[in-house]
Amino acid sequence: MALIDCKSLTLEELRFHLASMEVPAYRAAQIRSWLDRGVTNFDDMGNIPLKLRAELNKKFHISSVKIEKKLVSARDNTVKYLYALDDGENVESVLMEYHHGWSQCLSTQVGCKMGCSFCATGMDGYVRNLLASEMLAQIESAQSDHGVRVSSIVLMGMGEPLDNFDNVIRFLHLLGQPGGIQIGMRHVSLSTCGLVDKIYELMEYKLQLTLSVSLHAPNDNIRSQMMPINKRWPISELLKACSIYAKTTGRRISFEYAMVDGVNDSDECAMELAARLKGILCHVNLIPLNSVPKNKLRRSSDERLGSFKAILEKLGVNVTVRRTLGSDINASCGQLRRNKEKE
Ligand code: SAH
Ligand code: SF4
Repeated sequence: MALIDCKSLTLEELRFHLASMEVPAYRAAQIRSWLDRGVTNFDDMGNIPLKLRAELNKKFHISSVKIEKKLVSARDNTVKYLYALDDGENVESVLMEYHHGWSQCLSTQVGCKMGCSFCATGMDGYVRNLLASEMLAQIESAQSDHGVRVSSIVLMGMGEPLDNFDNVIRFLHLLGQPGGIQIGMRHVSLSTCGLVDKIYELMEYKLQLTLSVSLHAPNDNIRSQMMPINKRWPISELLKACSIYAKTTGRRISFEYAMVDGVNDSDECAMELAARLKGILCHVNLIPLNSVPKNKLRRSSDERLGSFKAILEKLGVNVTVRRTLGSDINASCGQLRRNKEKE
């Protein structure tokens, strides 16, 4: 029988499993407290009797991440981790310092099915979903290794969070549990390439997180070249979902737009984008493309970025150019893992 992933369980669920083993309910809180302190072995849980530890070892598994590589940027305080999971797979995570505190970018899958042309993660295909516990472990590991408290998180690392819907919802739930990491939903951003059916599903949870949508193009012609998912859900359907999402949750949508030289960065693109976003409660983040070895795409010039931004502003769109942190350590996700696979 497969072992149960202990750390992904809520306190109530853990109580339920323990009850079936005729273990009293207060043990669940004791175990959870060890898990929240980063303990990854039942044998290290001092207040749990030896006999019970042996039974727990037969029924549960505690997943963890190990730091396989750590890169610290010499330009800013950005830290990039390559983590090894229990099955030997690797994911990446980036820790960034902002004036309001430390923010961490987490991975939600090993690889990704979506195959976006500009993305290092997408190039290597999909391996598996991460468990909720493996998302929590990325935060715990970074906090204890780097000696900081993470105050906000973005689900913008490797993988498509809405393609791992149940585990991501479970992770978000566990994030706010008493005794746990305790990051409020207002300090969470979830980024998606636009799985429209899942956006509607997410809406039903009425979470106060920020939904980031990787738009990257103002029309289907360009977007379908960059992002295969656009053939399944074209821009009109995606923006309709975004508009309803913003109205239902009262939360502004954040549209990500990676500026790619000669692909999506013309003045016409800016005008078309502004027209399409009219009436949607939103903000646009322009991101100079991080170049990925093996594809020929290049970032737009600063001049192009400036002109694109000015047009959006003139047409009433809320827009910022995102700071590129950790540019000397390949801080955009997917690249470390690729390098490792090549070794
Ligand atoms: N799968 C989700 C979240 C992970 S990707 C999504 O696509 O939204 C996180 C963000 O990085 C997305 O906005 C994605 O489009 C962007 N991205 C991927 N590769 C990039 C690159 N080479 N340069 C700049 N942004 C990139
Ligand atoms: Fe997957 Fe996001 Fe990369 Fe696209 S950009 S391949 S959805 S991780």
